[in-house]
Amino acid sequence: MSDQDLDQNAPSIRLKQPGVIVYLCGIATSVLTIFAVKWGNAHDFYPMGWFVNGILPAGAILIGIVSGVGYAAGSRLLHVKLGGWFLALMFATGVIDYFAVQYLTYTSVIDAARVPSEAYPFIDYLRDNAEQMSFRDRHDRNQHGSPLGLWGYCFRLLIVLGFAIGAMIPSLVVFGMKYCHRCQVYLRNHRIGYFRSPESWTEVKALAKAERQTALEQIGAAIVARAEQFAQAVSETNFEQTDALMRELDPQAPRDSAAHVLVTLMKCPHCDAHHLSGSLSTYNASNENASAQLFVLDKTQIRPPRPAADDDAMDSSAPPPANDQSFRAR
Ligand SMILES: [Zn+2]
Repeated sequence: MSDQDLDQNAPSIRLKQPGVIVYLCGIATSVLTIFAVKWGNAHDFYPMGWFVNGILPAGAILIGIVSGVGYAAGSRLLHVKLGGWFLALMFATGVIDYFAVQYLTYTSVIDAARVPSEAYPFIDYLRDNAEQMSFRDRHDRNQHGSPLGLWGYCFRLLIVLGFAIGAMIPSLVVFGMKYCHRCQVYLRNHRIGYFRSPESWTEVKALAKAERQTALEQIGAAIVARAEQFAQAVSETNFEQTDALMRELDPQAPRDSAAHVLVTLMKCPHCDAHHLSGSLSTYNASNENASAQLFVLDKTQIRPPRPAADDDAMDSSAPPPANDQSFRAR
């Protein structure tokens, strides 16, 4: 509920304290997760303690991921590029959240046993929790192994780390999204275009395996060469020229091509910062799908070098020099 209110206010508060709002979004999903875990514990369900191969705290990482969704959604919707300090804050909050979960579990344990908290303080609970920790028998789920003793602290530490790192994972996904630092917004998809091989998959598929392999290699080499030529052509163009070259590509996804290249152009909604990528989709000789990233051109930070012979064309679309310098000074 509160998240929605925040989203509606987003444009007006965006330039004031967006980081705080993003943080509150993360706290909201963390609190929901804490209560879900507490509910699970009350029903003899302890996902926090799931380990894979006896060392990877998979359950804690998964729960951390769920609790960290709010940070990622907040930063994407409010166009906040998270910095390193924010990741550190998220990590610290994850550790605190973990102890909050422990405290809630502790209160439900002593409530169930009708023990007053003075008789069994929280710190004793944490110690016993670590030292008495044991894994369920691999073959008999109801059988518990012997207590881990001091090793229990290591596993508890793995759980805390797994949870806190898990909470950062959704934000790391957003962290990798294309962003215009000048305008402080994430880039949007602007246009896609396709190159397709003249050969159809139906005819190539009908060949014998060895011939199919040769044919696919030739088709792949030809389409990769076309894509590289395109990447070369757009590597030094401004946005309008790039977009014009994109319009020459096929806008429709090819059907039944033996190979095609998808070119994606993303653009800043406010300025000409843009980003291009090209990926190949084809088949291998065993008729399985195969794909590869062919090129990535990040034109969000560095303006293309100005061609000496083409000053006029560049000037009309270039941003004012002062703007450019302040951007470079960052
Ligand atoms: Zn921009």
